[in-house]
Amino acid sequence: MSTIKIELGTQLPADLKKDFIHKMYYSDSSVGTCAFDEKGTSLLLDLKEGTTCIPDVLEKKARELAASLSSSYIPIKKIVYFDQSDITPRYCEDIEQVLLDQGHIHQLGQGQYALGPNVTNLIRALDSLFIEFGRSQGAREYAVPTLIPVETLAACDYFTSFPHTVTFAFHLPEDLKRIEDFMASAREQRSKGGIKQIEIEEVKTDVVLSPAVCYHIYHMQEDLSFDKGEQGRTFLCKGKCFRYESGTLNGLERMWDFTMREVVFVGSNDYVQSGRERSLDWVIDLLKQLGLKCRVETASDPFFAGDAVKKKAFQQTLQLKYEILVDLPWKDTLLAVGSMNIHQNFFGKTFNISLENGTHVETGCTAFGLERFALAVMAQYGPEPEHWPEILTSRMT
Ligand code: AMP
Ligand code: ZN
Repeated sequence: MSTIKIELGTQLPADLKKDFIHKMYYSDSSVGTCAFDEKGTSLLLDLKEGTTCIPDVLEKKARELAASLSSSYIPIKKIVYFDQSDITPRYCEDIEQVLLDQGHIHQLGQGQYALGPNVTNLIRALDSLFIEFGRSQGAREYAVPTLIPVETLAACDYFTSFPHTVTFAFHLPEDLKRIEDFMASAREQRSKGGIKQIEIEEVKTDVVLSPAVCYHIYHMQEDLSFDKGEQGRTFLCKGKCFRYESGTLNGLERMWDFTMREVVFVGSNDYVQSGRERSLDWVIDLLKQLGLKCRVETASDPFFAGDAVKKKAFQQTLQLKYEILVDLPWKDTLLAVGSMNIHQNFFGKTFNISLENGTHVETGCTAFGLERFALAVMAQYGPEPEHWPEILTSRMT
């Protein structure tokens, strides 16, 4: 693997550095790993095996990205709602490595993992708490698909906000000749050692793998008018989510294929706001019981380009996103294991869902990443259940 050093000659603010590295992975398909040097002004890039790139071109891309991020940067002070950073975790090994070495997880592909008994038990215990919270809110329980129509995701503005993470789903066209040709080629490649990649010419798709669960909930209420006097509805749902995070894919921390549990609030402004405040109170109480070193604060989504800065600033200033950040002691970084989001009337307008008085509903969702939450618990307590908090072990079978 060859390494390139790029002198940026400028020190980016700390919160921009993360964004910059994230975007660098999408700047060129040759980028394998990407990090700042110790001084924080030069970039160290490892190129992927078998790829080529012109160093000057990569340097130009990096400099342009740094310049564009810096020129539109708006520093925003985060609001902290809960801080439990004074806890000293009892475990500080590299849990990702331990989980792999001890066979608690198995990597099956990029961002794809099989989870063993300890991890699945932990996830089930955590999820039983989230389900309990949803039910305490009077939520209606729904099972939703993994696929989502392109049309739905486009209406949710996903392709203009996060196009880089979308995972498209394809099938062979209904054409006997093409299916037979495909089979013949598969047979031939298999006999020559296997199939690693599939290319299908001129194939179009109208579905993708869903990057979140709550979009289905808004979609299914399209053109709905709430009943007389009805202030809102709450939903409980869980589903597989897919986000292609390129070079930042990393163990259970950042997966391509992960699971999300959501409690979704749909209704009047009061209904949704109070749903989020109750979510926050419940989450704080849970974090205390779990004894995790963590905090909850305002955040923004990783919008890709264009008006990304404006979108981020809007989200942060209006406190539309709260994030639960748990400390990973072995590397002293924070990992978002859940978020409490407000979307104002965006989905109400998009899917024409209205209250009895004709105004569009507002929406909000409280989302937990199940694998990430489990990883965060194990990062601070280790991989063995005997060391996990009682609130979890008491729920295990
Ligand atoms: P978000 O909608 O981005 O706030 O995501 C909700 C939650 O899903 C996050 O707080 C994470 O716990 C989880 N999550 C998001 N992206 C990933 C990923 N790539 N891998 C694992 N978990 C994720
Ligand atoms: Zn959501």
